[in-house]
Amino acid sequence: MIDFNRKPNVSEKLNGRIDKALEIEQSFQSARNYLGGSRIGVECERALQYEFTKTSVDLDKDFSGRIIRVFARGHWVEEYMVEILKKSGFGLVSVDENGNQFEFEAHEGYVKGHCDGVFVSGPDEFGPYPRLWENKGLMQKYFLPIVKHGLEIKSPVYYGQCQYYMKKFNLTENPALFSVVNMNTMEIYWEELPFNSGFFDMLDAKAARIIAACWAGELLPRMSQKADFFKCKQCNWHDRCFSKR
Ligand code: SF4
Repeated sequence: MIDFNRKPNVSEKLNGRIDKALEIEQSFQSARNYLGGSRIGVECERALQYEFTKTSVDLDKDFSGRIIRVFARGHWVEEYMVEILKKSGFGLVSVDENGNQFEFEAHEGYVKGHCDGVFVSGPDEFGPYPRLWENKGLMQKYFLPIVKHGLEIKSPVYYGQCQYYMKKFNLTENPALFSVVNMNTMEIYWEELPFNSGFFDMLDAKAARIIAACWAGELLPRMSQKADFFKCKQCNWHDRCFSKR
């Protein structure tokens, strides 16, 4: 029988308070007014249109305090990686003289991106330099498939981010170094990514198509016509998307 008189326990009460504080803080942060270079590899062009136009997500998909904490964890692990790479003898530049991440702009400022860092020097066996660096912190269930099958196959979004950034930061000459930290075990997997001009061209054309469609007020085709397609079920705009023709 459901106990309607059950009182929230201390975890529920405390976490509720923390989540509320984080969600209020998030609501005051300005939403980005550009298409993120880290996102162009996302498969569905319509979803990227919703993202670019800051369309409200479905009611049940709003950012919760827990998701905000997950994003914060990604920043911590990145800072830790910078620290241990410097200790290991690499010249890694992660911010400019004002303490800001390096930024590029493309498509008249409608596409922007910020890189995790650039290896400017280090042991010869890992050169030549400079090399773009991108880092992710992932749960084991996402980490292991990347180790087994490689980034391009298992995460075209991260692979695309690296390709787009290599070009836009003028770092195509040497392969990028991509690291992913297993957040369950703290293992680190590295992959070298040579520049793939065909992949970059495909992404850049996609970015142009998304921006043009948004300005024209057109919705690009869905990635699937089936509302129960598993990728669509996970989409933040599922209900909105399938309520339109
Ligand atoms: S529900 Fe599917 S088709 Fe619609 S925007 Fe999301 S991913 Fe794309």
